[in-house]
Amino acid sequence: MTIPDPVTALLMLKHALPPPAASKPARDLTQAEARDVVVSYALNRQLELEKPVAFGRNGNLTFPLVGARSTLGLDIGGVHFTPDNKKAAGWTRTGSMDMRTAVLAVRLAQHLKSRWGVTTIFWGGMGVGRADTDRHGKGFAIDFHGAITRIGKFDVFEDWGKQPITLPNGTKVPKWPPGTWPHFRLDVDTRAGGFFYDVYHWLTGEAADARGKRTSIGDNSYILCPDMPDITWRDLHQDHIHCEIDR
Ligand SMILES: [Zn+2]
Repeated sequence: MTIPDPVTALLMLKHALPPPAASKPARDLTQAEARDVVVSYALNRQLELEKPVAFGRNGNLTFPLVGARSTLGLDIGGVHFTPDNKKAAGWTRTGSMDMRTAVLAVRLAQHLKSRWGVTTIFWGGMGVGRADTDRHGKGFAIDFHGAITRIGKFDVFEDWGKQPITLPNGTKVPKWPPGTWPHFRLDVDTRAGGFFYDVYHWLTGEAADARGKRTSIGDNSYILCPDMPDITWRDLHQDHIHCEIDR
């Protein structure tokens, strides 16, 4: 078996990269499409899999195989991914990730880098969960805790979850009162408000959202954040934005 140089490898792969996969949301990719997109990212150094991309004698990919998971190096899409939870502190790679979630991570990084000059993303739950059987343990989800951008650092807890909520009558409260339907508490014309608004709305195009429609902050969605409607889950998401691909 020989490993071709990246240019040759891309040429070899060209026939296997259906054009739709490159523009299809990460949540909707098949395992085969996600594998091929991941391989093109790996060959373009947007992603480091746990082993080099490998081809068999017949030119077929032998790593990664369709449906395989892989840990990822922490430079993803040109952005450094810094673990921001106790369990992953000091890790030099993510846990084992589904290929579709790896595509989501690369695209999120590329978007935030080009739009906001992001150099670092603080994350939790990439291939590591409370249990191996939950969404994170299976490599299906990413917790976004914040980022360093060209206009400063934004932390989901400090700059969103900890910020006061202004109710319609003008009073400021630290938490949504029971029975109140939430909305985005930040002003989109502030730096943090504009940043988190963009992160959320970008995710509605790539991650699992609501069936058949794109949501906004405050709607029911698989994207979980400090101003989400469900009170129990909301309490658990004051310090991060949770996003995932469909199962
Ligand atoms: Zn999560």
